[in-house]
Amino acid sequence: MTLIAFAAHADRAEIITDTLTYTHTATRMGHTSKLLPLPHLDAAIVAQGSTGFERRWHMQALYLAQHAADFDEFAREAPAHLAHVWSELGIDLDAENIAHGRSATVTPSVVFLVGYSPQRQRFVAYGFASDHGFAPTKLDGLYAMPSPLDRRPGDLELHRLRGHLPAVLGDQADRAVAALGRLPIQPAPRRPEEWVDLAKAVRRDRAMADLYSGLKTYVGGDVMLTALRRGESTTRRIHTFNDSGSDFARMMAGSLHPMSQASACECDSGRRFVDCCLAAIADEPCPCQSGKVFAACCSINADMSATAVA
Ligand SMILES: [Zn+2]
Ligand SMILES: [Zn+2]
Repeated sequence: MTLIAFAAHADRAEIITDTLTYTHTATRMGHTSKLLPLPHLDAAIVAQGSTGFERRWHMQALYLAQHAADFDEFAREAPAHLAHVWSELGIDLDAENIAHGRSATVTPSVVFLVGYSPQRQRFVAYGFASDHGFAPTKLDGLYAMPSPLDRRPGDLELHRLRGHLPAVLGDQADRAVAALGRLPIQPAPRRPEEWVDLAKAVRRDRAMADLYSGLKTYVGGDVMLTALRRGESTTRRIHTFNDSGSDFARMMAGSLHPMSQASACECDSGRRFVDCCLAAIADEPCPCQSGKVFAACCSINADMSATAVA
């Protein structure tokens, strides 16, 4: 997942994203622009979930944007195109996974469209989630995903937490989700500094959460703020997270990120994580689903000449 937050007002819309990308095992990280602007439609697209899906959808979105008369038509046509891209990706991935003898599914993904609706004469926002068949959901007010823990998460995130928290919290999951659902709804940030505060709260509550809390989402890199008005779209970098040193180490603790593998094990043995508790999976299939065992794959002890990173 990635940090996305936005609010659509009558005369403008604002969107923030972070720029950090990572493989699902957090072994490798990178940065990207997560927003695709469509200035001729006074609109922008952001996506969350599978980067492979996002890339393909953006190609399709540019095609759709050429043919749509306005943002309303674009939003109306989007679900069919999203479903098409999703099924094509699934078919291609299946073939690839079968060829490599592994099983993997596409990470559930959400696409958000924010733009000016000539029909409603205001900026509007929609969400389309793969786990809801890309049915459109109109999103009013501030929408932040992942949400910090001092405000009510959106319905889609609550739905997802309801799905995966029981595996982590057991009987406590229902109560935890209900408590999150009772949190206050916060007004949308107005000034850039208020968007930065929101981004920092998400990093604090969700990126620094314990790996096994069920709330963990890596958030990092830069915070980019895009402001849409009719006939004008601007994107600015408004904050840069400290992705080095102890701050970053805390976010990655317990993950397969090389920095985390090399750091002191949390069991206080004095040994490196990779030579201590992580060694328990040395001979097991690597979590990155390469088909190799961990010791010969994503372990920092592995012979890197044999597993050259593309
Ligand atoms: Zn240990
Ligand atoms: Zn691996």
